[in-house]
Amino acid sequence: MQHRMELEMDLREALEKDEFFLAYQPTFDLSDMTPTGVEALIRWRHPVRGVVQPNDFIPLLEETGLITEVGRGVLREACSQGASCRQAGYPIAIAVNVSARQLDSDQILADIEGALCDSGLDPEALTIEITETTLMRNIEETSRRLAQVKQLGVRIAIDDFGTGYSSIAHLQRFPVDALKIDRSFITGLAHNREGETLIHTLVQLGKALSIETFAEGIEQQHELSLLRDEDCDSGQGFLFARPLDVPATETFLQNWADNITPTSTQAPQHT
Ligand code: C2E
Ligand code: MG
Ligand code: MG
Repeated sequence: MQHRMELEMDLREALEKDEFFLAYQPTFDLSDMTPTGVEALIRWRHPVRGVVQPNDFIPLLEETGLITEVGRGVLREACSQGASCRQAGYPIAIAVNVSARQLDSDQILADIEGALCDSGLDPEALTIEITETTLMRNIEETSRRLAQVKQLGVRIAIDDFGTGYSSIAHLQRFPVDALKIDRSFITGLAHNREGETLIHTLVQLGKALSIETFAEGIEQQHELSLLRDEDCDSGQGFLFARPLDVPATETFLQNWADNITPTSTQAPQHT
């Protein structure tokens, strides 16, 4: 209880002192291995604990409702970063994670619109990622809000797909553009036939519904080979690139423009 209260106080202070920042993890087209964009991932530069990873503070941000304000900042920052990269000549897409709490109110529409408008980012270059569990929480309201988000021209991806309890029938109800297959399905692929069968089925499901399939957390070459054999569309993972800070993202984009496909052996600075 004591620890929680301290953490909550720290989080409020972090918001005031602007201690949150974004890392950007590149995403790739698996058919030709070209980069397609970046996913914005929040970090907290804690004055004592150093850089704190999102799994350690997002749940409390959600519980306290602070996520609404933090999430608004993430959208603004990611859109503005994306717009400036695009203005610099890199045609990247930006993905932003949106939490359940943010989707509980119409404020999310104003937040997305505001971030797009102020940054000048092309709405089609923005994807919002929503976990499967979030989608299923409040189906009526969520599908109405997502339809409005879609009308803005923004893309929608289901994050951590396969870990929640969505029914296939519901998938058709939401304007979904991409399924991000959870890392747990990718890890250890090729060492087990059941895993392969599951991936095959998930990719075919995406194809049947004309939804892009995206593999999360690709770490091994054999996982990549298998995903390419199965014709999975896109992916991200430590095999290609870890989440990068802004200067490293710029270097990554520069290398891309110079036609150098980065590999994990180049060990870019990550956060
Ligand atoms: P996510 O959206 O599924 O993000 C992918 C996570 O997997 C990231 O962890 C990323 O660093 C990690 N990852 C990517 N490739 C690999 C890999 O090859 N191997 C392994 N082991 N991990 C990999 P991260 O940055 O710690 O983020 C964790 C989660 O926190 C995210 O999962 C997302 O649900 C949440 N999150 C991050 N940023 C935000 C945000 O701005 N808003 C909200 N609401 N949630 C966020
Ligand atoms: Mg995500
Ligand atoms: Mg995920």
